[in-house]
Amino acid sequence: MATKNDNSAAQDAAKKALAAVQAKKAAEKTKAADDTRASGKVQHNITHVGQESTNKEELLAITKKNAMPYRIAAIILWILAIGFEVFAILFFTHKFEPAFAAENPGWIISWVVCLVLDLVCVIIGSQLWKKANHLDPASAKNKTKFWIHNNLGVFLSVLAFLPFIIFVLTDKKADKKMKTIAAVAAAVALVVGGLTSVDWNPISQEELLEAAGTTEVYWTDSGTVYHLYEDCSHLNHSVELKEGTTTTAIENGKTRACKTCEARAIREADEAAQAAADAGKTDVDSGTTDKTDTGENTVDTGN
Ligand SMILES: [Zn+2]
Repeated sequence: MATKNDNSAAQDAAKKALAAVQAKKAAEKTKAADDTRASGKVQHNITHVGQESTNKEELLAITKKNAMPYRIAAIILWILAIGFEVFAILFFTHKFEPAFAAENPGWIISWVVCLVLDLVCVIIGSQLWKKANHLDPASAKNKTKFWIHNNLGVFLSVLAFLPFIIFVLTDKKADKKMKTIAAVAAAVALVVGGLTSVDWNPISQEELLEAAGTTEVYWTDSGTVYHLYEDCSHLNHSVELKEGTTTTAIENGKTRACKTCEARAIREADEAAQAAADAGKTDVDSGTTDKTDTGENTVDTGN
């Protein structure tokens, strides 16, 4: 089912993790199937959830539906942000001058408050937009489109402050000092809004689909990730666990594997490969293992 795309680092990492999960399963099959669950330090109440037969289109329809409220809320907040910017411009340029904004403290307060509300709306909107993208990721086939989609909040930050800066700097009434203060304040807001709007760790639709349905995973109602190991340290304080395929986890809003579990799976897979190499076995269940350097420390190309 995997369609070959350009290899982004993120996809490499996802593939590596996936290979690790498969290696983990293979390793477990050869072990005596007695220990892990019974000997775990923490007793979990595990509820199995989910139908097993969700296909790709159904899954994407569900993720889209899960993300929709966040997208709508983000867009509403961004519209409000632009609205506050318009008022900031009107106040600053004296185009809108109710009694309270005619005198000096009131005038400054009026456009400063509008700028602050503008920034608040941009930041909250962007966080909701990022949340929506993690529930319902965009395709990474087109890199530019993918970046724009994930970082739409950055463009909104520019849109929410740059026009104000331009109006301020070209205003003829205000004195130079006030113009400088207002422009610098808006520029700082633009940078703060922009930086908080960047998704530093985006996930793609391809990663999501590739992870879907491949293995049994664990999650909690309150968490945002799924775990590959029931005895993951992050689950030590959780008694109630849900168990299901990654597809079901994704449907429940857990779109990403826990980093600790991912690292462990990769480590265990490396160890298993090493052990297999040491034992002189050549039939490791991994089509991608490069036979020429299994005896050496493998160079980590994904990082
Ligand atoms: Zn974990």
